[in-house]
Amino acid sequence: MQQDETISAIATPPGEGGIGIIRLSGARSVEIATKIFNPYGGEKLTDCSPRKAVYGTVVNEKNKIIDEAICIVMYAPNSYTCEDVVEIQCHGGSIVMKEVLSLTYRMGARPAQPGEFTKRAFLNGRLDLSQAQAVMDVINAKTKASLAMAMGHLSGDFSNKIKEFRHEILSMIAHLEASIDFPEDDIEDFAVEDTREKLKLLVEKIKRMSDTADAGIILRDGLKTAIIGKPNAGKSSLMNLLLGQERAIVTDIPGTTRDSIEEYVNIGGIPLRLIDTAGIRATDDIVEKIGVDKAYSYANEAELVLAVFDNTQELSEEDEEIINIIKKCPGNIIVILNKMDLSGDINNDIISRKLNESNETRIRGIIPMSAKNGDGQEKLEQLLQDIVYGGNVNNYESNIICDARQGEILRQTVLLLQESLNTIEMGMSEDFIVIDLRSAWEKLGEITGETIEDDIVNQIFSQFCIGK
Ligand code: GDP
Repeated sequence: MQQDETISAIATPPGEGGIGIIRLSGARSVEIATKIFNPYGGEKLTDCSPRKAVYGTVVNEKNKIIDEAICIVMYAPNSYTCEDVVEIQCHGGSIVMKEVLSLTYRMGARPAQPGEFTKRAFLNGRLDLSQAQAVMDVINAKTKASLAMAMGHLSGDFSNKIKEFRHEILSMIAHLEASIDFPEDDIEDFAVEDTREKLKLLVEKIKRMSDTADAGIILRDGLKTAIIGKPNAGKSSLMNLLLGQERAIVTDIPGTTRDSIEEYVNIGGIPLRLIDTAGIRATDDIVEKIGVDKAYSYANEAELVLAVFDNTQELSEEDEEIINIIKKCPGNIIVILNKMDLSGDINNDIISRKLNESNETRIRGIIPMSAKNGDGQEKLEQLLQDIVYGGNVNNYESNIICDARQGEILRQTVLLLQESLNTIEMGMSEDFIVIDLRSAWEKLGEITGETIEDDIVNQIFSQFCIGK
């Protein structure tokens, strides 16, 4: 279904580039593009073959050439949105692109809202809701593992799993309803018994999937990490070691100022979102180095704390403070005994004893390391994978959940299914069992978008960027 309103936006990132793409979608896209694009061959854009690159010029109302460009026309339904889509590839300068964009507005397009292209693809049935959400996750993926997960969602593997679950519930409903409609056929007891066994298995399957939510959200958003330790313990060396493996990814968070640019490091496929890298990096100036108060506030907001100790020196008062912070902060903790390349293994036992005394399960490991030559890094990776995946992520692959909303829907589905099991145990009639099953079936449909309110759809797409 084509929307009457034709939308237009710059589809490439802001800033300068070799090319920049203006994308139009909607019933009037081709008409608008034809007015502003003259193919070099002299023919009209509408006479050119669809889905082929056409070389020509972009001209304004006075026939003045604004840029040389390539134009591609994709007729409905063979396009990203399933509507008529035109992509104009012009030179990637910000003035050029703004000119071409405003020209499309003057010819009748309106500015696209955030995520509106993908929303149209969803409304036209080209992508289901979970696939549409995955488009952003593919674009924002921070490690190969995050990308693999997002692609599992975009390709529909994940949605198919949800559809299978819904199908299983629907066949249970059909079976029970048949026994209500034909009670004389004596299938009644069998239907309830059969449903009970199938339900138990289904609850287990959905629970296993919902248990992946924590790992999935970390893979998508990164694990908020603080590196703390006294001055000269080796925090910035550790950070540089971790960053050196793969260039840091810096992300601009939509809606915020440049202050909240975030830096990620990739450790064994897990993105760590580092808190205050600038503060840690200011290594030349001792005054700027992270103080105990600051360390405390970082550790408090982190999901993972890497506590660095200099293992060539006796524990100092500052180290004791760091140990106290570790005991109080809420996230997982990994203790790094740094500078193991130098002689002097003086703190391992003392720190272990002090931490063991606190009987803290959040302390996930004590790793001797050298931030200088990289010894111990593999152990750190292994430990992190254990913390995030609990040792079994590879079994899930594309069926991992990466969104809090999806996780919540699965949790609620499990509750509804358990409710139907209770109804069975209480010996109530099939009608009651069917009511709970129907609610669970509808709940699951919110993941793929088959049963969902418009305002939730709007809210999901509003988190996208313009042009997507
Ligand atoms: P920060 O103040 O905690 O950020 O510590 P730095 O990373 O600036 O390190 C302080 C000093 O210790 C620097 O001279 C580093 O080169 C040195 N250093 C850090 N880690 C190691 C290590 O593993 N081995 C050795 N030999 N020196 C290290």
